[in-house]
Amino acid sequence: MKKQTINIVWLKRDIRSQDHRPFQKAEQANVPYIIIYLFEPKFINYPDTSLRHLQFVYHSIKTLNNTLEPFNKKVTVLYTDAVTAINFLSDTYEIKNVFSYQESGVLATWQRDKKVKQICKINNINWQEYQRDGILRGIKNRQDWSTQWHKTMHQPVIKNTFNNTEKVEVLEHKYLLPRELESKLKVYPKQYQPAGEINAWRYLKSFAAKRGFKYQKHISKPTESRMSCSRLSPYLAWGNISVKQAFQFIGTHPNGTKNSNAFSAMLTRLHWHCHFIQKFEVECAYETHCVNKGYELLEHPINEDYIKAWKTGTTGYPLIDACMRAVAETGWINFRMRAMLVSFLTLNLDQDWREGTYHLARLFLDYEPGIHYPQFQMQAGTTGVNTVRLYNPVKNSLEHDPEGLFIKKWIPELANVPVSYIHEPWKMSLMEQTFCGVIIGEDYPLPIVDLQTSAKAARDKIWGHKKHPAVENEKDHILNTHVKPRKK
Ligand SMILES: Cc1cc2nc3c(=O)[nH]c(=O)nc-3n(C[C@H](O)[C@H](O)[C@H](O)COP(=O)(O)OP(=O)(O)OC[C@H]3O[C@@H](n4cnc5c(N)ncnc54)[C@H](O)[C@@H]3O)c2cc1C
Repeated sequence: MKKQTINIVWLKRDIRSQDHRPFQKAEQANVPYIIIYLFEPKFINYPDTSLRHLQFVYHSIKTLNNTLEPFNKKVTVLYTDAVTAINFLSDTYEIKNVFSYQESGVLATWQRDKKVKQICKINNINWQEYQRDGILRGIKNRQDWSTQWHKTMHQPVIKNTFNNTEKVEVLEHKYLLPRELESKLKVYPKQYQPAGEINAWRYLKSFAAKRGFKYQKHISKPTESRMSCSRLSPYLAWGNISVKQAFQFIGTHPNGTKNSNAFSAMLTRLHWHCHFIQKFEVECAYETHCVNKGYELLEHPINEDYIKAWKTGTTGYPLIDACMRAVAETGWINFRMRAMLVSFLTLNLDQDWREGTYHLARLFLDYEPGIHYPQFQMQAGTTGVNTVRLYNPVKNSLEHDPEGLFIKKWIPELANVPVSYIHEPWKMSLMEQTFCGVIIGEDYPLPIVDLQTSAKAARDKIWGHKKHPAVENEKDHILNTHVKPRKK
């Protein structure tokens, strides 16, 4: 029997219906198409992935299916690797084109994509990959990158339309989600930001309507930032909204005139979003290797107790512990608190940055490899070209959580500690500890390291290494590849 000719839209980190090039091309092609999303066991089990990411994806697909239902379209979910999926679909259909966005992911997805390319070639399938959010593939330096990116951001948003065309039945297959996994995915814990395209717009609109007016004033405050930051990151990371959609919405919003500082600060960060992903697109080895190879020479003896205390929010430093517990519970904390967590692990505790990257990747609902690894390494001081920032958790706590409200919310053991001691509870006398119902060292830990001595040791170690020839040798390559050349 002659196979039906079809096209495929392969969704990755672009689970939305609008400003979507692959959907546009599929609709224009005059060939029936199916939409697939692959839950690939290899990536589900990869150490950067967690149930919360998969739940977010699953519920984003659900929203998309609701949007597509009137057009007789639905995402086909397959639980298998991409090569098996393409082979299976090729056995069933004559596949003309696969339309997808390029993925700037970890090395493993890059290797997967190379295999998919081969399989497509063998099966005579044209795999058409489109540029995502102004990220350029194959560039050798940043000459002209910013100009190109701004041009992309100002191009018209794609207004996708869907015709009620012939439905392609996906035949019975054995690649169904395992029942146990699917029942976990169907749950969506209330403490996470709600998934999907509709919610992405809700968050963007409420930011521009009011929430974002105090953006800069609150950006570093662990409590207030939860309201004043855009909270767009999970939607951008999983592609419920494109960077261009967000950029144009904020850039042209009538409230921008009165809130120009706040709105332009947000636009700058959308630029950073892509700037970091572009770094990773060029060098995805940053997942596992120091940006500046010279920093591989530094040794960081593993201390399992330190790592455990950091991961479980039991270091004895209230703001550190509150942040770790908050992100474990909700999937989000602001930039400064993320940077502080990394600085504490890698500088104060002197642990290798690789001991913490996957842990936070799994906790961040907005995990985006292209931002995560380069940012992590910047804060860990392994680039050799950025200023190394040591975040003092007591100072940050006094400045950004002066009343200790964030701390008390996330560390119930400290709920009755007076404000005068909330940042340094170990300074309470035993009698004061008894009064407020917490014995430091029993109910809540003593600080695991001394801040001043550990900070000095870190400065000597990391700063001291900056002039090492192995670090110096790498600097030119890093600057030439990732930094816009300065005008002479
Ligand atoms: C160690 C570390 C790891 C991080 N990992 C991630 C990650 O996996 N995914 C992620 O989206 N962000 C990451 N960030 C950047 C930043 O913390 C988050 O983007 C931000 O907190 C998200 O909240 P928001 O959407 O309210 O941001 P807003 O402040 O409202 O900014 C709007 C958008 O701009 C982008 N953005 C903001 N700040 C940065 C930044 N410093 N660098 C790059 N892009 C930025 C994000 O896409 C964000 O959604 C990381 C930062 C650090 C220090």
